[in-house]
Amino acid sequence: MITVITILGGSSLLVFLIWSWERIRYDYRRLDRDSNHPAPEGSGSLLPEWAQHHDWLRTHNIYYRSLSLDNQARFLRRVMDFMRYKEFKYIDLEPDPMIPLLISAAAVQLTFGLTDFRLDFFEKIYVSGSAYQVHWHKQAFQGHVSLQGIYLSWDHFFHGYQEYDDGHNVGLHEMAHALTYGAMMGRTTMEKSFRTKFKEYAKAAYPILTRMRNGEDSVLDRYAATNFHEFWAVSVETFFEKPLLLKTCEPALYGALCQLLNQDPLELTAVKVV
Ligand SMILES: [Zn+2]
Repeated sequence: MITVITILGGSSLLVFLIWSWERIRYDYRRLDRDSNHPAPEGSGSLLPEWAQHHDWLRTHNIYYRSLSLDNQARFLRRVMDFMRYKEFKYIDLEPDPMIPLLISAAAVQLTFGLTDFRLDFFEKIYVSGSAYQVHWHKQAFQGHVSLQGIYLSWDHFFHGYQEYDDGHNVGLHEMAHALTYGAMMGRTTMEKSFRTKFKEYAKAAYPILTRMRNGEDSVLDRYAATNFHEFWAVSVETFFEKPLLLKTCEPALYGALCQLLNQDPLELTAVKVV
């Protein structure tokens, strides 16, 4: 352990200690499922798995880096839970333990303020090396959600977190679709309070959507004007990547998103996990 402490430094050690405590307290209902959903293989690094995950998240996920240490520990625990419940399938892409970690982190980021964070409606996440064709569509897809699962282009997913201030993040976009998809299909354990708050969100969203469909510019990308579902997913991207701009230009929408997701990206150190 002394070697590990030396390699990782004090803050990492604190995250580990909090993380370990959370694990001990955690309800291990999932154990009977673990044999079907084994944890991803280690990377071959000298670091223990939790420390490698912490390191990758700190390097590639600005949201995680902005959290307080105790929230980083909770985030890490949720990510590891999420990964174990999902089956990752790779298309034209070599499996790499960083891929499920970072994709799971996008889902956990979106739902960090919610009790129900596993997006249970979906068991499978398909990851393609780059943009891909779907049926008859002419344009290649960067991501989509269907009854079969959540689909992502790894190239575009990774780029979304490398350029975290441009309002484009396909990972958060598709996870936003996934979050509401299960509720729409009526086959999810989504909290009732989320459904109620989503109606409030819709009240704030529709006037902006109408304005955009009438040709007005907005802080949101024009793709949001496609329909309400795309508006929702794009507003989530903007909420996390351009929070100050969204709060300034569309305070009602920003407030509704804060209420709905139970978090404020402008005050990440104060996030209270329920
Ligand atoms: Zn979409």
